[in-house]
Amino acid sequence: MQDYYNPQAKRVAVMGGTFDPIHYGHLVTAEAVRHEFQLDQVLFIPTGKPPHKAADTVSDSESRYLMTLLATESNDHFYASRMEIDRSGFTYTIDTIHALQQIYPVDTEIFFITGADAFYQMFSWHNAEELLKTCTFVAATRPGYQKEELIQRISATIQDHPMQRFHFLEVPALAISSSDIRARVRSGRPIKYLVPEAVENFIKKHRLYQKEESPHDIS
Ligand code: ATP
Ligand code: MG
Repeated sequence: MQDYYNPQAKRVAVMGGTFDPIHYGHLVTAEAVRHEFQLDQVLFIPTGKPPHKAADTVSDSESRYLMTLLATESNDHFYASRMEIDRSGFTYTIDTIHALQQIYPVDTEIFFITGADAFYQMFSWHNAEELLKTCTFVAATRPGYQKEELIQRISATIQDHPMQRFHFLEVPALAISSSDIRARVRSGRPIKYLVPEAVENFIKKHRLYQKEESPHDIS
């Protein structure tokens, strides 16, 4: 059985992402959502082959998973999952949600955490509508974010789906992004305090993000 599985968990959230690398924006958001919605577990699931990102621009799965594991170890509610990186072919989030539904008891509520940007893009995803029906969504927004357009778009896509299952939560660390961190490493600027120290050390030791957006190898 997967090490994250807890049969007692009634509220489990998925935080999916490329996590190239995972940073404090992801962690602060997940912790805020965990507290607000009294979640038992947050599963950080680094994506395998994302259909919407070119394969050669993403670091190898093992490095992304290991950084996610290092970053989540200090929180008793956070778990890193290999579920998507071990799957062959393209990664579709709906398959992950279905797999979790098989693992957890039927009355476990599954939450899906995204940034508002990713939430907006989700409407172009494979089986987006099915996904929207299966999970409770929490979209992290910057303070002051105008969510009306997003709400309109959701309601237009899934007319018969109750809006009560969509939540917005303002988080303060939204200016941090993985692309900015990669650019900082490439140009020799500091990433200290933007990522956990263990992740910073991993990036240094394995010399990630040195070259112009190309694949990385930890060996
Ligand atoms: P990139 O800059 O390469 O797009 P990213 O920082 O957006 O990377 P991802 O791994 O693509 O990181 O994001 C995973 C999830 O976390 C997405 O749902 C995204 O919207 C969300 N997210 C990303 N950055 C933040 C942040 N600073 N605060 C809250 N959520 C974030
Ligand atoms: Mg992103």
